[in-house]
Amino acid sequence: MKAKPVKSRNRPRPVPTPRQVAMRESAATRAARAGAIAATLGEVYPVARISLDFATPWQCLAATILSAQCTDARVNLVTPALFRELPDPAAMAAAPAVRVEKLIATTGFFRQKTRSLQMAARQILDRFGGEIPARLDELVTLTGVGRKTANVILGHVFGQPGMVVDTHVRRLARRLGLTRSTDPERIEIDLQKLLPPAAWTGFSMRLILHGRRVCDARRPRCGVCALSSECPRVGVVDRSSAQPTAPVS
Ligand code: SF4
Repeated sequence: MKAKPVKSRNRPRPVPTPRQVAMRESAATRAARAGAIAATLGEVYPVARISLDFATPWQCLAATILSAQCTDARVNLVTPALFRELPDPAAMAAAPAVRVEKLIATTGFFRQKTRSLQMAARQILDRFGGEIPARLDELVTLTGVGRKTANVILGHVFGQPGMVVDTHVRRLARRLGLTRSTDPERIEIDLQKLLPPAAWTGFSMRLILHGRRVCDARRPRCGVCALSSECPRVGVVDRSSAQPTAPVS
């Protein structure tokens, strides 16, 4: 006698994977997951501060410009002599370009960075009375200052919320299923919607740390990652099948 087929409603439902959950989660659920991710990152990285050394708003801006295509450690080797000799926008604007180039040569792209530093210094003197502006829309009018640098300054100098989107944040936000975009400005908006403003600076700084230490661009260490239970690993190649997972739709 043939066995009766099991009625579909009696079959045990398979447990959805984190990726499947992320693919169909609501905005509220995604925000709750982002909150859980932020809490875990807060435990793993209690100190969430940029690793550049600076003592004044101008020095924060200058160090952040120098950190493009360069490690923070390298910038920190260069800035003590730079800031001793050229401590503020007035000194930077008045210095011979060749002198600035020599002082920052080891940070790479030193001619371009010298132009940015000197033009930004002159703009700060001419348009902002020598003071670093405290608004994102004004900061991004300065030469060499994009939204990433502006958000670093807002968060670290003025104590205002700043969602910093660098290469690490861009990669992790997608892998964690918190955005579908690859555009830094869109990612910034997507992340801002998920967390309260007070969490923006710390969250983005901690994502940067996590990207450097665990969620490597080429070899993410998912096996030891504190976020693994909340992470759909979007786009991460599963080395057992050599297939990237699908983006969140
Ligand atoms: S290391 Fe893996 S589990 Fe951790 S955040 Fe990156 S992709 Fe997700």
